[in-house]
Amino acid sequence: DLSIRNLRKTFIKGKEEVTAISNVNIDVANGELITLLGPSGCGKTTILRMVAGFETPSEGEILVGSENIVNQPVHSRGMGFVFQNYALFPHMSIFENVAYGLKSRKDAGTINIEHEVAEALELVGLKGVGSRFPNQLSGGEQQRVALARVLVLKPKLLLMDEPLSNLDAKLRLHMRTEIRRIQQHLGITCLYVTHDQKEALTLSDRVMVLSRGKVQQIGTPFELYANPATTFVADFIGQAN
Ligand code: ATP
Repeated sequence: DLSIRNLRKTFIKGKEEVTAISNVNIDVANGELITLLGPSGCGKTTILRMVAGFETPSEGEILVGSENIVNQPVHSRGMGFVFQNYALFPHMSIFENVAYGLKSRKDAGTINIEHEVAEALELVGLKGVGSRFPNQLSGGEQQRVALARVLVLKPKLLLMDEPLSNLDAKLRLHMRTEIRRIQQHLGITCLYVTHDQKEALTLSDRVMVLSRGKVQQIGTPFELYANPATTFVADFIGQAN
């Protein structure tokens, strides 16, 4: 499980210190999908980047089990990332794209790469496309490959930052359901960043609503609807349609 304790991040902008986020606390259960939701600039990405290890907190702890990981390098955290710009290697087949991370691992010699790649592609609904190239796939299929490329590494935690924002509306709806299906099938813990209320409400076990670097509320989609903690939450959730 993952716990975030009293997390705070400030940046220096010119001569000023800007607080991107402060006082973030959450306990995430194994297998839970938590969405970080809020308008542009509220600090969602900053939180995710600290969990991933791309930024160091100004204050606070990120605990995996009982271990504080804030000083651990990115690659030893065992986390998988899916971002909006999921660029696949255009000159490599789908098989090679998905196998790439596995092949560069120290224990590559002991892994049945063919098997692992086939399994990951099947999981994302792309059985049998291994010999094709990225430009022979649709945008949605490419996004599935991006997901397979991460899942093949069997991360302990999956971090997704607006993974669907490059897709058209219809595909976005479909992939939303797919991501949830795969996440539940694997029982993988997931932090998911979006500014889209509807996406957050349909995908998540719980949602953390943020505004201007502060947590407004953490709750199930139902709790946010039925019992908004602040007027910001009521207004923001109310805009879902
Ligand atoms: P968006 O949805 O637009 O990506 P966000 O909610 O993910 O927004 P963040 O990207 O986390 O928000 O940014 C939160 C605040 O921190 C913003 O005010 C942003 O300008 C500031 N910030 C983020 N990264 C940096 C940085 N590297 N240097 C300076 N300020 C930063």
